[in-house]
Amino acid sequence: MTRAGDRQWNLVLTGPPGAGKGTQAVRLAARLGIPQVSTGDMLREAVASESELGKRVKAIMERGDLVSDEIVIELVRERFARSDCGPGFILDGFPRTVAQAKALDELLAQLGRSQITVIALEVPEAELINRILARGEGRADDNEATVRKRLQVYQSETAPILEHYSAGLARIHGVGEIDEIESWIAEALQLS
Ligand code: ADP
Repeated sequence: MTRAGDRQWNLVLTGPPGAGKGTQAVRLAARLGIPQVSTGDMLREAVASESELGKRVKAIMERGDLVSDEIVIELVRERFARSDCGPGFILDGFPRTVAQAKALDELLAQLGRSQITVIALEVPEAELINRILARGEGRADDNEATVRKRLQVYQSETAPILEHYSAGLARIHGVGEIDEIESWIAEALQLS
C-alpha cells in the first residue's frame, strides 16, 4: 500500500454530481493515509445537527443550488487548520466555482503548499442521472428535478474550474468498475 510518505498530497477530486467523487475519495484517502475533505458531507452534518449553519443551508441544498462561496471557503479554511491535513488532503466537492478555486490557491499559498493536483472524473449526463436516482441514499437532493438542477449548476458554475486548473489536471474516465477507475486514478498519480 502506498502511504503519504515524504510527499505532501494536495488533491482535488472534481466532477459532476454522481460521478463517483465520494467513492473514489474514500479509497484514495485510505490508500494515501490522508483525510477526505468533503464540503457536501460537512454541510449535510450541519443540517443533520440543526446548527445555525445547518439552518442557513438546508433549503439551498434541497433546491440543488450552491451554498455561498464565503461559507464553504470558511469551512475548508477551518478544516485545513486541523493537524491531520499536514501530510495532505483530498478535497471532494470543493472548489465548485472559480471564486472558490482562487480562494483555495490563496489558502494553499498561505500554508506554503501550492502544488495542487486535480483529478476530474468524466461521466456522460444520462449515466449520472441514472446513477443518482438508483443509488437510494435517501438524500433530500436526489430527486429528478433537483438532480437536473445540480447538473445545470455543475455546467455553469463548476465546469469552468477545469480551465483554471489546465496545468495540473488529470481527466479520468469515470465509467467502469470501481476498482478499475481507482487504478486509472492511481496511474495518473503514479502510485502504481
Ligand atoms: P454532489 O456532487 O452529488 O452534488 P455534494 O455532496 O458534493 O454532492 O454536494 C451536495 C450539495 O452541497 C450541493 O448541491 C450544494 O448545495 C452543497 N455544496 C457542497 N459543496 C459545495 C461547495 N463547494 N460550494 C457550494 N455548495 C456546496
